[in-house]
Amino acid sequence: MGNGLRETPLMKTLFQIYLEEFSDIQYCPYCLTIKGNRIVCCQEADFIEFKELDLDQQTQIIEDELEANF
Ligand SMILES: [Zn+2]
Repeated sequence: MGNGLRETPLMKTLFQIYLEEFSDIQYCPYCLTIKGNRIVCCQEADFIEFKELDLDQQTQIIEDELEANF
């Protein structure tokens, strides 16, 4: 019945919490920085909502947040 995932329950929970919390926050898709009050980042005016980012990018942002907070 196992699906091969080896995430610990703690990581999974945090990931889901962040996913829900960040879903509507806009990020620069190039450097993965929160848009905040910026109009342009990385010389582009492209910003993408967290939920629209690739899983890899979402994971990167969450890992950065976890490092910053713990
Ligand atoms: Zn940027």
